[in-house]
Amino acid sequence: MSFKIEVDKEACIGCGACTSCDNFELNDEGKAAAKEKEVKEIGCNQEAADNCPVNCIKIEEI
Ligand code: SF4
Repeated sequence: MSFKIEVDKEACIGCGACTSCDNFELNDEGKAAAKEKEVKEIGCNQEAADNCPVNCIKIEEI
């Protein structure tokens, strides 16, 4: 099983909370992006999604 990680950049407020997971970084526009968009292990991506204040990180099983 793999997981697809997506950030809704329209909704992201650039708070940076998700960057405590090393799979996320803020881009030049101050929006979060997943470095690896397909991962085998969900790991800290789940915490990042759970902790996002605007709930804009989506994780889908693929
Ligand atoms: S935690 Fe959510 S709102 Fe904050 S930077 Fe990450 S994706 Fe954007």
